[in-house]
Amino acid sequence: PDTSFYRGRFAPSPNGPLHFGSLIAATASFLDALVHNGEWWLRIDDIDPPRVVPGATDSILDTLGTYGFAWEGVVYQSQRHDLYAAHFDALQRSGYIYPCTCSRKMVFARHPRGLYSGHCRLNPPQAFDKPPAWRLQGVREQDAFDDLIQGHQTCDCPGEVGEFVIKRADGIWGYHFVCAVDEADMGITHVIRGADLLRSSFAQRQVLFALERPSPHYGHHPVITTPEGIKFSKRARSRALPLKAPSPVLACVFRHLGLDVPKELENETVSTLWEWGKAHYNRQLIPQQQAIPAHDCAPR
Ligand code: GLU
Ligand code: ZN
Repeated sequence: PDTSFYRGRFAPSPNGPLHFGSLIAATASFLDALVHNGEWWLRIDDIDPPRVVPGATDSILDTLGTYGFAWEGVVYQSQRHDLYAAHFDALQRSGYIYPCTCSRKMVFARHPRGLYSGHCRLNPPQAFDKPPAWRLQGVREQDAFDDLIQGHQTCDCPGEVGEFVIKRADGIWGYHFVCAVDEADMGITHVIRGADLLRSSFAQRQVLFALERPSPHYGHHPVITTPEGIKFSKRARSRALPLKAPSPVLACVFRHLGLDVPKELENETVSTLWEWGKAHYNRQLIPQQQAIPAHDCAPR
């Protein structure tokens, strides 16, 4: 087997246009794939219908095109119910999941962050007056991996991850479950994303352990914050990325990944910037921090 095979992805949620905070995740994952001569795929995380904003997917794809990204293909979570159902059945057959009838209120009454320690696994519900949620029983208590950017990470999983929901009572698939199934099904070898998702990797690895599928390598870049320390996000009403002059914005994102981009490159095309990025990108240059304040060049 070709052990150098690399397949990366960027997985935006279509809940609004791309902003500077999401551009860094797209850029880091794309550059990492480029320097490893890897593939780079898009996955649209549209599994939760109420959170999908009409038109957002088209706007994200347009923006990525304008910024010079090139992808192998696009996978939509909303079109993969059969795949998720098949993996759900596999988990059920192997006994890793169990029904849970606890209300949200009950779960949070037991734990301030809603971490679930197996109440309904230990006290199986006797009757269902409505469909239950399904939870994954912990597969590995202690887990660890070497993050490609943040270094060695460890997890005491019962105390940090808990027994999370695989399928909600309303039938919607759990987020960690679909993410993990997608990485396995798409054959993703490298997940490069924001450090706000670092702990999610431990939940997603539990799903992969249960499915007896290998986990990808993970690298978590710092998230970008405002000077007040607030993460760039839709909720913080970060601006949509400008489509008129992408090069200075792309150069600015490169700087947040530790690249010393010459000022004159900002007048070049995005393809010239990607060539320069491919020649200079190095994981070791990325700040080994979970969050960094935006440089002055960042649009807000
Ligand atoms: N769609 C999620 C997000 O944008 C997940 C991203 C990922 O796993 O890379 O936060
Ligand atoms: Zn329960």
